[in-house]
Amino acid sequence: MVNRERIAAEFSRMASISSPAFGEGQISRYLQQRLQELGATVVMDDAGERIGGESGNLIASFPANGKDSEPLLVSVHMDTVGPAEDVQPVLRDGVFTSAGDTILGADDKAGIAEIIEALEVVREQNIPHGPLELVIAVCEEVGLLGIKHLDRSKVKARRGVALDTSGVDWLINTAPAANKMRFTIVGRESHAGIAPEQGISAIAVAAKGVAAMRLGRIDHETTANIGTFNGGEATNIVPRQVVLKGEARSHDPAKLAAQTEHMIACLEQAARDASRRIDGEEVEVTVSQEVVSDYPRMAVAADTAIVQLVQQAAAGLERILEIRNGGGGSDANILNSYGIETVILGTGMCKVHSVEESVSVADMARVAELLIEIIRLA
Ligand SMILES: [Zn+2]
Repeated sequence: MVNRERIAAEFSRMASISSPAFGEGQISRYLQQRLQELGATVVMDDAGERIGGESGNLIASFPANGKDSEPLLVSVHMDTVGPAEDVQPVLRDGVFTSAGDTILGADDKAGIAEIIEALEVVREQNIPHGPLELVIAVCEEVGLLGIKHLDRSKVKARRGVALDTSGVDWLINTAPAANKMRFTIVGRESHAGIAPEQGISAIAVAAKGVAAMRLGRIDHETTANIGTFNGGEATNIVPRQVVLKGEARSHDPAKLAAQTEHMIACLEQAARDASRRIDGEEVEVTVSQEVVSDYPRMAVAADTAIVQLVQQAAAGLERILEIRNGGGGSDANILNSYGIETVILGTGMCKVHSVEESVSVADMARVAELLIEIIRLA
């Protein structure tokens, strides 16, 4: 039923349209027209204006065809990471790659090609189905900005699938929450050669604080990292200020809070240890921090209707879908926080966020077959 030539052509067309985050204007216009041709009512929300991008999120609604059921949402994103100038998809032995100096954009255009092919087949075969909503988000790759600004009044579905992870034949039902942190450590500057005893090095304090932190894989569901360390002015100045940026992730909100507190406490301890009297004056090293929630966790139980629907669809194709825990944040975390129970499906994309990114036509066809079955059973 799935037409391999058609899905390959669709993918190739979309991959050739450069669409870095904030620069989705052209792909958005293409998709709007393509989905209207397929029978959808397409609206664009105001996320683009709110985040300073060329396009908002597209919401394409397909009316039910002879089946009375709750709406089903399919989530994908149209932006890509860079380098994404002049992407030239190359198809060799059934596998798409870029020409070598850019990403391919299979993340997430493989997912978009798969749902478009599924919709083509559903229409061709006149397969009865309930109402469908396709949300094509912008700016997923930059902090999930598009979906965080989704106009939720335009979406009715309360269950869905997101097509946005590598591999095929698995679904992801959990993903961690993450905090982003920014620390500013302020000591005292002084001349490093003439009056070093009058200074307190913010670099030395920050280094001790970071060295005391538990980082990396903390346990089976928690990770933490300090990713940047910036400070100092010149070799002859005891440095006054250091700015650190880091993150923590956990599937358990209590562990996320505890890890975040631990990282703050290590820096505060190092600051207290370094504070001292200089020339009769108490000089206190200060630590200030900004902690923001990057995304909430998602945890869709294995016995919920959406997981069962996807598994039933796979069983109908004599496939077994493995259920896995995710390690990162994606649009699905945000959709779940909106009360739309969403699991993530593999799209076949490989080595994403690199110039070696690839996807095979056979894998895209395989996922499109699963989507047709999901749409039929939903
Ligand atoms: Zn993606």
